[in-house]
Amino acid sequence: MGVVAIEDVLFPGIDVRVTEVHAAVEGVVVEAAACGRPPDCPSCGCPGRRVHSRYRRRLAERPVAGRPFVISLRVRRFFCERAGCRRRTIVEQVPDLSERYRRHSAGLRQWMRSIATFVGGRPGQRLCQSLQFPTGRTHLLGLLTAPPVPERAPRVLGVDEFAFRKGWRYGTVLVDVEAARVADVLPDRDAATFISWLHGHPGAEAICRDRATAYSTAIHEAAPDAQEVADRWHLLHNLSAAVEKTCHQHRPCLRKQADVERETAPRKIINPLPPPTLPPSKMAVRTVDRYSDIHRLLGEGCSISAIPRRLHLDRKTVRRFRDTELDTLLASSRMGRPKGVLEPYTSYITERFTEGVTSRPTDLYREIRERGYRGSDQPVRSYVAGLRTGTVEPARGAVPRPGKITK
Ligand SMILES: [Zn+2]
Repeated sequence: MGVVAIEDVLFPGIDVRVTEVHAAVEGVVVEAAACGRPPDCPSCGCPGRRVHSRYRRRLAERPVAGRPFVISLRVRRFFCERAGCRRRTIVEQVPDLSERYRRHSAGLRQWMRSIATFVGGRPGQRLCQSLQFPTGRTHLLGLLTAPPVPERAPRVLGVDEFAFRKGWRYGTVLVDVEAARVADVLPDRDAATFISWLHGHPGAEAICRDRATAYSTAIHEAAPDAQEVADRWHLLHNLSAAVEKTCHQHRPCLRKQADVERETAPRKIINPLPPPTLPPSKMAVRTVDRYSDIHRLLGEGCSISAIPRRLHLDRKTVRRFRDTELDTLLASSRMGRPKGVLEPYTSYITERFTEGVTSRPTDLYREIRERGYRGSDQPVRSYVAGLRTGTVEPARGAVPRPGKITK
């Protein structure tokens, strides 16, 4: 290992030269001098050449070995030599270390900002104290300033709503899609607010949005030349919602077809299943009650908006009970149906069992393992035992769930 310069340890990648390190009452003090390229004048851009003066400033840095760390930094002041520039001298800043007017190094400020973000004001103040860089809570909270909002809209602007509090109050987040950065946040999701933002921040060439009409109205009015893009997430989300709805509506057809296929398939049943003796579950009883209540009220001429209020139900639930047959509702509420890892294999097991190929749980367990089953043999044993006694629901023709088809 070669010798490492102290600058590389304390200030990696930063243009300073360390002249002295000493321990003082206040902690470890490092005397350092800026040695980077002279700065450009912030007013006219002219590079500084002639040194006007030098002076020292003190910067608190992140602690070293558990002790406070102070940099006594010597910086230069340069003349601005451009005739007519209102600025006479330029003070140099050390990139990634010093900032104008700051008494903390850039790295320490970043630490404090993280502490303020994750811990908050008063607890943050105590944490900073114990980590050897004491500061006040107002200073910490003052570090939590939002980045400035750009004057022009980003070239590709993303717009979407978000919830301050779900179901209660919503806002709008505007994103610079190319930079993957939030550009601004609006207090609501109204078209008027977005319109005035677009007027104040021109320049968006493409705007990605969901299908909310408020945003498309705003775009038509305030940025008619921008190309509108339905964003990928919402496109897929809407597509999958439509597919799932269709599958739900056609589930009885799939079921019927699967049953027909099963019955017409030439196969002999050696182990007939006993008639199911499933005890009526609480869920099933509730389903029947709910079904009859809803249909009674419908028969009495109650409207679809009055029933949810009277029965304290969700409007969606009432619609589902109105549009679905009782059998289907019961099937989806029935207990005794294996959940989880075994479910994809129950129709295979039922088939093997009823055809009398084998009814030994050990064989069936081995066979479904070969087909990808990763669970233990216990669910297989209890399912087969249930088939024998009629206490589980035998799997009917395998009809995938709508959610599965949609995926
Ligand atoms: Zn100048």
